Amino acid sequence: MNLAEQIAAQCGKEIPQCTNHELYEGLLAMVQKEAMTRESQEGKKKVYYISAEFLIGKLLSNNLINLGWYDEVQAVLNAHGKDLCEVEEAEPEPSLGNGGLGRLAACFLDSMASLGLNGAGIGLNYHLGLFKQEFEHGLQKETPNPWIEKKSWLIPRETSYTVQFGRLAVRSRLYDIAVTGYRNRTDWLHLFDVESIDEGIVEKGISFDEENIAKNLTLFLYPDDSTEAGRKLRIYQQYFMVSNGAQLILDECVKKGCNLHDLPDYAVIQINDTHPSMVIPELIRLLTMRGIDFDEAVEIVCKTCAYTNHTILAEALEKWPIAYLKEVVPQLVPIIEVLDDRIRRRFPSEDVAIIDRNDLVHMAHMDIHYGFSVNGVAYLHTEILKNTELKKFYELYPEKFNNKTNGITFRRWLLHCNHPLADFISETIGSGYKKDAHELEKLEAFQDEATLRKLLAIKHQNKLALKHYLMETQGIQVDENSIFDIQIKRLHEYKRQQMNALYVIHKYLEIKKGHLPTTPITVFFGAKAAPAYVIAKDIIHLILCLEKLISEDPQVSPYLNVVMVENYNVTKAEKLIPACDISQQISLASKEASGTGNMKFMLNGAVTLGTMDGANVEIADLVGKENIYIFGESSETVIDHYAKIDYVSKTYYESNADIREAVDFITGPKLMAMGSPEHLTRLHDELLNKDWFMTLLDYEDYARTREQAYKDYEDRLTWAKKMLVNISKAGFFSSDRTIAEYNRDIWKLQ
Ligand SMILES: *Cc1c(COP(=O)(O)O)cnc(C)c1O
Repeated sequence: MNLAEQIAAQCGKEIPQCTNHELYEGLLAMVQKEAMTRESQEGKKKVYYISAEFLIGKLLSNNLINLGWYDEVQAVLNAHGKDLCEVEEAEPEPSLGNGGLGRLAACFLDSMASLGLNGAGIGLNYHLGLFKQEFEHGLQKETPNPWIEKKSWLIPRETSYTVQFGRLAVRSRLYDIAVTGYRNRTDWLHLFDVESIDEGIVEKGISFDEENIAKNLTLFLYPDDSTEAGRKLRIYQQYFMVSNGAQLILDECVKKGCNLHDLPDYAVIQINDTHPSMVIPELIRLLTMRGIDFDEAVEIVCKTCAYTNHTILAEALEKWPIAYLKEVVPQLVPIIEVLDDRIRRRFPSEDVAIIDRNDLVHMAHMDIHYGFSVNGVAYLHTEILKNTELKKFYELYPEKFNNKTNGITFRRWLLHCNHPLADFISETIGSGYKKDAHELEKLEAFQDEATLRKLLAIKHQNKLALKHYLMETQGIQVDENSIFDIQIKRLHEYKRQQMNALYVIHKYLEIKKGHLPTTPITVFFGAKAAPAYVIAKDIIHLILCLEKLISEDPQVSPYLNVVMVENYNVTKAEKLIPACDISQQISLASKEASGTGNMKFMLNGAVTLGTMDGANVEIADLVGKENIYIFGESSETVIDHYAKIDYVSKTYYESNADIREAVDFITGPKLMAMGSPEHLTRLHDELLNKDWFMTLLDYEDYARTREQAYKDYEDRLTWAKKMLVNISKAGFFSSDRTIAEYNRDIWKLQ
């Protein structure tokens, strides 16, 4: 059977008679069959990547690329009057992640399979995802995001375990998603669910009975933790994830001949941030139940678990009240108490205790004491962990600390999302870069005008594609001849979308005064705010007000526009990133552990405007200062301000007229008439009286550097050279490199 016949057979009718959704389902089934045949159980040792999030994105195109089928399928569909891009539109995006940490987990699975490593992901099957973001009256509204259809990538398995919470016991069900490696083997993402889940208990918006655990356990990722019931629900979810994971791991190892004493020869567990930390006491518990004595169980677990730290933000390092754990997971509490007690005997300092004097359990501390590896996710981040944030621990265990600078899979973030650029690179330097990303450096030799013009033409083509996409999906009109200046990432004060918005206000006022930009500018935002994060929602409100104000102002809108993309997710990122000219990576130095959005933009020929934070530092090193726009105070200075508590935002407000004008515009008559005075006033007060993430500290340098970037953009060929250098130096940020390093230094699989 040829491919057309196979697709028709799978769909049950000829291709031209199929809807796009039917074609999607047919191709899905074909991919799944093929993935099974490429499964291989080789290798004694296996890595288990446990994570609360896997932000995997749509899977059809990526799988077709990895299997080597993409071009042929596209050609066959075209020959029958269909288009693969439209088939892709029929696929819902799985909603199993939140931001960078979840996307990283997805890139890592792709690289593990592509490098042929024996690995698996372990997580939860959230039926309604994080939430779907809608804008209503200039505000974020959250609704459930159901994504599981009758036919989906989830393969139901027989595997099922009992998980005990005090008096409540629930049965789990396992679903698997195939992770096809690029021209390589298949690994699996294991997603656990509860048998008794009930989507029907969701009421208005995303609210539901938080205490009906058997029915709500896997409904949402990150349920609201502003209430006690919500916080406990998070503990239920975390324990459900790790107990299932630990049972699965032990079963698999025993099946391969492991006698449990030698578990570290069969399994290594990578703990992605602190959400899966309870896997440590749970494994100890399960090992003792299977006849291993306690001391040895502790030793085995220490040699099996490795921890990745993703943040230095204090509020994100989980600390659970021991009383909550006593209620939800009473069987773990005596174990955690012993683990704490042993540490207290060895190291009396309260700073490194697991259970502190307020009876809070520090999950990260447990990971560091009882894991064999602690890694940060970019050079600067790891240095800050060692020298500041986790200094006390580094002094105890210098040998455990190591850096693994994050990466992204080039299959999704170049081959899939930017076909014109990928084809152009192949024509210029050959396709070797698809397997060995460092080969992109060969591009640097091609700085002739024809190559540079071609690069600019591709960028223009991608901007047009984004324009059409936004017109069709959000009814928004954008000017493809404007500068596309983009900030897309979770909304958080440390990421400083508010600083970007202040600049937009400044530019608006400049244009009002008659100072017009040479090339028009479109400022794109995309960001979800955590439902209980008040100031983040105020910032969204400000951005939406600015979008409206400017679009309704015929004096300004020919020169400046704001576009807030609704429900930012992987699919939207794939459309926005290839079209970007300027990539905004403007976090307060020391606060962004790595960032991976910055890498995706660089790879797609955007130039970074950023602070010396996270992986921006490594980008700047690689491309050189002519090919990046760096501004702002250093991480040392920022850390010093926090230590001395000497940052006062009002000083900056009072000493700089531009800042004063922009900040006061938030509560000026125009916006107050247009938006909600409550939200705008609260944001204004926050910036003036608190500004914990030091927006005003860097504003002046930010505005000046941004102006310089706009000015440089006018010299198109010089700009294209910057684009070329950025692409050619991006090879370092392939997640294949990152995963090879994890394996070399931590996992040590064959
Ligand atoms: C890459 C990615 C992120 C992470 O972006 P940062 O700028 O590194 O915070 C978040 N969300 C989505 C959908 C992504 O693709």
